[in-house]
Amino acid sequence: MKHRDVELLAIGAGPANLALAVALEELAPAGLAADSLVIEQADTVAWQPGMLLPEAQSQVSFLKDLVTLRNPCSRFSFVNYLHSVGRLSQFINMGSLWPYRIEISDYFKWVADSLTRVRLEYARRCTSVEPLRDAEGTLTGWLTRLADGSTIRSRHLVMGIGRDAYVPEEFAGLPARRVIHSTRYIQRIAELPKAVPYRVAVIGGAQSAAEMFDAVQSDLPGCQPTMVMRSIGLKTYENSKFTNELYFPDAVDGFFDARPEAREQILKEMHITNYSGLNPATLEKLYSALYLDRLAGKGRLRVLTMHDVTSAREDSDEVVLELTDRRTGEVEELRCDLVLLGTGFVRSMPSLVRGLADALGLERVTVNRTYKLDVPGPATAGCYLQGVNEETHGIADSLLSMQAVRAWEITNDILADRAAGLAGEPAENVPMPLPPLPGTPVAVSAI
Ligand SMILES: Cc1cc2nc3c(=O)[nH]c(=O)nc-3n(C[C@H](O)[C@H](O)[C@H](O)COP(=O)(O)OP(=O)(O)OC[C@H]3O[C@@H](n4cnc5c(N)ncnc54)[C@H](O)[C@@H]3O)c2cc1C
Repeated sequence: MKHRDVELLAIGAGPANLALAVALEELAPAGLAADSLVIEQADTVAWQPGMLLPEAQSQVSFLKDLVTLRNPCSRFSFVNYLHSVGRLSQFINMGSLWPYRIEISDYFKWVADSLTRVRLEYARRCTSVEPLRDAEGTLTGWLTRLADGSTIRSRHLVMGIGRDAYVPEEFAGLPARRVIHSTRYIQRIAELPKAVPYRVAVIGGAQSAAEMFDAVQSDLPGCQPTMVMRSIGLKTYENSKFTNELYFPDAVDGFFDARPEAREQILKEMHITNYSGLNPATLEKLYSALYLDRLAGKGRLRVLTMHDVTSAREDSDEVVLELTDRRTGEVEELRCDLVLLGTGFVRSMPSLVRGLADALGLERVTVNRTYKLDVPGPATAGCYLQGVNEETHGIADSLLSMQAVRAWEITNDILADRAAGLAGEPAENVPMPLPPLPGTPVAVSAI
C-alpha cells in the first residue's frame, strides 16, 4: 500500500481548509505551502452539497469570504471570483450582500482550482488518524489512514471535516430507503420517481427542515408533505446588529476568556441567531404556500407544531410515526412513505476526532485559543480542529464568518512552531502578526 510523508495534512476541502490553503499560499508560499496536502472524500469541492437548492442564499455577507477579513487585497476574494467569471456587474446590480448558495459553492471550487502550491486530492477519504511517538514518548506526528488503504504521515494535521449528521434514535431502525437526512437531500430525492404521490413527513422546525418542506413540493410534485416539529411554530432567526457583533472574529477572545457560566449564557442567548430560526424570506414563502393551499381547499400541506416523534417503524409498505402531542400527551399515528430529517448535526465531536482522542487517551477533546488540540506530554507535532469548537470559541465557530481569520491564526501558530523548532527557516516562515482589531486601520503593506 502507498505511503507518503507531508509536513502538513489538512483533512476535508470544505471552506475551513480552503481558507487555510489560501492562507498557507499567501503567508508561506515556498516553505510550508509547498509541503502541504489537502484531502477530500468527495470528487469535487461543493458547499453543503445535499442542500445546494437553487434559490437558497447564504446567511452571511459575501465579504465574509475565505480571505477578505484577513487580507482584503487577496486574489482569492469573492469579488475577484465574480470578476473572473464575468458576473461582477450583475452581482452589484442585484444589490444583495447575500449570494446564492450555489455561487458560493462555485466560488469555493474556483478557489480550489486556483491554488498553485498547496496540493488538493479528491476521492481520498480518511478513515482514522493515529498519533506517532518516538522512543521517549514525544508526540512526533500523525498517521492518517485512507479508505483506499494508503497512509500519510504528517507533522501538522488540520481537521476541517464538518460535523456528523444527527439522526435521532427514533429513526435509526427505519430502512435507509425511507429516510433522507438533509445532508443528502438533493442526491437522494433525485433518485425517486417524480409522479408517485408520496406522503412525506418532514421532521424539524429550523432552516433545513423548512427548506426541504418547500423544495419537496416541487421536487416530488404529487407528494403530500407534513412538517412535524416540537416548537410552537416556525420563527425567524434573530438578527440584531448588536448581537451580530458576536460573529466578529475579534469576539472570539472575549468568549474564550469568559467564565463558564458566561459562555453558557452567551450560547443560550445566541441560539436563536443561528439555530432553530428561519430566514424571513423562507418563512414568508412557506406561509404563503400554506395560505394558498387552504384557499384552494387542497389540504395538501400540513404543519404540526408541539409534537414529538416518539417512535417510528415500518409496517407493510409504509412508515408509521408515533406522535405525542406535547400539550395534551395524546398519541396519534402519522402514516407516510418517506421521512425527511431536518434534525441538524451531532453536537459532540465528529467520530473521526473522537477516534483520535481515544488513541491519544484523552477523556475530553479541548483545543487552545489557536485551535490546537490539547495533548498532554512532550510534542513536536500538532493537530488543529476547525469548525467544532463552539463551546470554547463561540457561536460563529462553524460559520464562514470565522474562516479567514482562523486560517490566519492556525497558519501563524504552525509557522511559529516551525520557526522555533527549525533554525535557518526561510523568511516566509517567520510568524506573521495577529489579525488587527476591527476599526484599526490596516496598512496594505502590513497584510
Ligand atoms: C444547509 C446549510 C447551510 C449553511 N449556510 C450557511 C451560511 O449561509 N453561512 C454560514 O456562515 N454558514 C452556513 N452553514 C454552516 C456551515 O457549517 C459552514 O458554512 C461551512 O460549511 C463549514 O465549513 P467546514 O469546512 O468546517 O465544514 P464542511 O463545509 O462541512 O466541509 C467539510 C469537508 O470535509 C469533507 N470530509 C468529511 N469527512 C471527511 C473524511 N473522513 N475524509 C476526507 N474528507 C472528509 C467533506 O466532504 C467536506 O467537503 C450552513 C450549513 C448548512 C448545513
